[in-house]
Amino acid sequence: MPSTSRHHWGTDMDLNNLNNKFFDSGEGLKIYTWLKAHGAEYGFCQPYTTKEGGRTGYEEERWHWSYLPLSGEFLNQYKKEVTYKDITGFEGSEVAKPMGVIKNYVEGVACKKLCGGSSV
Ligand SMILES: [Zn+2]
Repeated sequence: MPSTSRHHWGTDMDLNNLNNKFFDSGEGLKIYTWLKAHGAEYGFCQPYTTKEGGRTGYEEERWHWSYLPLSGEFLNQYKKEVTYKDITGFEGSEVAKPMGVIKNYVEGVACKKLCGGSSV
C-alpha cells in the first residue's frame, strides 16, 4: 500500500527470490542460513518473520532485509510524522485506517528494538 512500504525509505531490499520456498533448500537455504547467522553483523534484519510471538502485518518474507542503522530511525520518524491523513488519494486508501495499516503493518516488524519499535 502506498505510504506504508519500507522499500520507499531506501533502507530495505528484496534478495534473490520472492518465494519463501526458495529458501527451504539448495542455494536458497544456503543464502538464508548465512543471512540469519551474519546479517546482523552488517546491520541487517529480516523484518517480516513468521508471526510466532504475535507479530502483525505482512506474512513472512525471507527475501526482505532491512538496514537497521537507517530503517530504525526512519521508523521512529514515520511514527512521529505520518498519520492516516497522509495515506489517501488512491484506490483502496479508504481501508488503510480500518485495517490499522500503520500499527499493524508499518510497525508490525520483527526485532523492534533494533528496528525502532518499543518491544520484541
Ligand atoms: Zn520487500
